[in-house]
Amino acid sequence: MNFYDAHAHLQDAELVPHYPRVFADLAAAGIKRVVTNGSSEADWSAVASLAAAQPIIHPSFGLHPWDAGNRSPAWQKNLLAHLDATPGAVIGEIGLDRWIVTRAKPDDRRLSGLRRAPIDEQAGVFRWQFNVAAERNLPAAIHCVDAFGLLHDSLRAAKRPPRGFLLHSYGGPAEMVPAFAKLGAYFSFNANFLDARRARLREVYATVPANRLLVETDAPSVRPPPAQAPYSLPDTDGVHVNHPANLIATYAALAELRSVTPEILAAQVEANFLRLFGS
Ligand SMILES: [Zn+2]
Repeated sequence: MNFYDAHAHLQDAELVPHYPRVFADLAAAGIKRVVTNGSSEADWSAVASLAAAQPIIHPSFGLHPWDAGNRSPAWQKNLLAHLDATPGAVIGEIGLDRWIVTRAKPDDRRLSGLRRAPIDEQAGVFRWQFNVAAERNLPAAIHCVDAFGLLHDSLRAAKRPPRGFLLHSYGGPAEMVPAFAKLGAYFSFNANFLDARRARLREVYATVPANRLLVETDAPSVRPPPAQAPYSLPDTDGVHVNHPANLIATYAALAELRSVTPEILAAQVEANFLRLFGS
């Protein structure tokens, strides 16, 4: 079977010391492609270098909503320059995150040092990037937390890439799946949903149309529960580091959830991945 990771961040510093082992494990596991998302201006060049060194990497460039508040005056020019200079590059990670401005704790370590852009400012940054994806017919990887109504309205009003876009780790309501699918959405299942407390989200992925289903790791984030993490890496500063080859166990869990064989799921996800991201 061939496996495809629709959303990860393999440029992240936590993985760099483990590259020889990680890339050997990915190849041995049958993982053919890993969409590797830059999320701030600071990491776009690392994504480009990694893509040049490792053919498995599918490079993607975007300004994440967490980083939108710290963009430089030249961010649009920088983004277009990376897209133009990197063969096969797509757009992401972009999006809307109301949680960082309404619910995240002031001392949340993951947000330290970041100016949390208000949702209207995030929406402007998102729309500009999504329009680049539409104009160039590139897939865009979208992060959305606590803003699904606004996201749907924004996408409906926007010019959209004819090939579609990805709602990465979609955690919205099941009722909105058909409306997003109608606009061109694909939905990627993440090990985050394997947590015992996330039954509602597992149910959402039982309803996603088969031709819009993808699988992702978000590695080095989101280490799966131990029973579904056959690969491990040492923690960095007390933070779990997810080995991206754990993708294969997430595929297995999704096949079980949808009551299909692993082979049928893998073939369907391969067709979907290649339709959205190209070969
Ligand atoms: Zn991500």
